Amino acid sequence: MGSSSTIGVRIGGLAMLALASLHVPAALAEECPGHPDAIGTSRTIVVDPLAHPRIGTMQYPETLPLRDHEVVLTFDDGPLPKNSNQVLQILADNCAKATFFLIGEQARAFPDGVRKLVAAGHTIGTHSQTHPLTFEKMPMDKVQKQVDDGIASVTAALTDPSALAPFFRVPGLLRGPNVEQYLGSKGIQIWSADFLADDWRHISSAKVYDLAIKRLEARHKGILLLHDIQARTAAALPKILHEMKVRGYHIVQVVPATPDRPATPTDPQDWREHPAPETLPVAERPKFPSFVFAEAEQLVAPVASDFSTPDGKLLLSGEPFDRVKRPMQNNPAALWPNPVPPAEDAAAILPAPSETVFAMPEKTQPPVQAAAAQTNEPEPPAAAARAGHRVAVGRLGHGRGNQRHAGHVGKSGKMQQAEAAKITPRRQVKVASLKKREK
Ligand SMILES: [Zn+2]
Repeated sequence: MGSSSTIGVRIGGLAMLALASLHVPAALAEECPGHPDAIGTSRTIVVDPLAHPRIGTMQYPETLPLRDHEVVLTFDDGPLPKNSNQVLQILADNCAKATFFLIGEQARAFPDGVRKLVAAGHTIGTHSQTHPLTFEKMPMDKVQKQVDDGIASVTAALTDPSALAPFFRVPGLLRGPNVEQYLGSKGIQIWSADFLADDWRHISSAKVYDLAIKRLEARHKGILLLHDIQARTAAALPKILHEMKVRGYHIVQVVPATPDRPATPTDPQDWREHPAPETLPVAERPKFPSFVFAEAEQLVAPVASDFSTPDGKLLLSGEPFDRVKRPMQNNPAALWPNPVPPAEDAAAILPAPSETVFAMPEKTQPPVQAAAAQTNEPEPPAAAARAGHRVAVGRLGHGRGNQRHAGHVGKSGKMQQAEAAKITPRRQVKVASLKKREK
């Protein structure tokens, strides 16, 4: 039995993952009628989740078998009409195909948004039902419910359930043994990422663009994690795609193998970084961005931003970015090296918290997440380090409050906007935070 048919057998029990007729267009030429400057989609690769169950070098040894200057775009947390629609239009104007990791409750609230993604030919995976930031310690029964409900909710929005790919991104990238085991048993591929643009933080769209391009240039290829629900992401995306094209990058779409669609032939080493970042001598490592997590422990001190997830959860140990944590464990002195980053990097990658740190112009981030947001207002490095640490300490208690987040995600966009509008002064949030911690 070939691996492709194995997939069908393994996950055939899940009606929502009946993949035989998965709706995905053939690879597009790198042309986009009516949009001569579009970056296009250079090719589509078919991957076998069973052969490569976990990908993304931020957390796993393997990543997608991309060639030099190939990028896979991924968008989390949607759909949310306004910004997701804008992202969708930008991608359409660029003939660029991406992978979207949808939250079940968002899909229930905005099923049209799910159908639009499918109609546009994007790849769709799931991102749990309510987006709890506790997957790293979640008991198996809750893992199963979160995963299964998320799949069911997205499937319910689809006219063709086979349009859902067996791809999953763990909220906050908070991988854990139970979620990995469960998804593995279902033949669902876990997608971490290769690089971020920090678009969940309170930074400008210009900063999102800057981080996306600089981190891409440090890697030359990879899976980029973005959030289509963020206005700053929608604002930055046209420029990001344009700059990628100018710099010779190509967008690649990824679809799952099915019995009728065998995986793209690859060699095992294609799924590994070459050379693996940690095998590079320090002197040869890219100086910027230091946020390529594999290098971070060697190049810059940890800052608050090192300790929060792409969904804003604070992490004190460096989890979930294991590739940072491991070297730290090997070298305890690296845990708290010189907290002052190189000056030239500070403004670009180490936005210091300021008085506006808790402002929340975005619509979907819950108050507790806003506390982790950062601005791009530069501060003196020492102040930045202190402020970063203060934020870190201040969010200690938030890890326990994830049900609040979970409940928030499922609310309608209007409710979220109304709630978000209430959250601006830092002090209010701090008070709320303290009250919560007292509970
Ligand atoms: Zn998320």
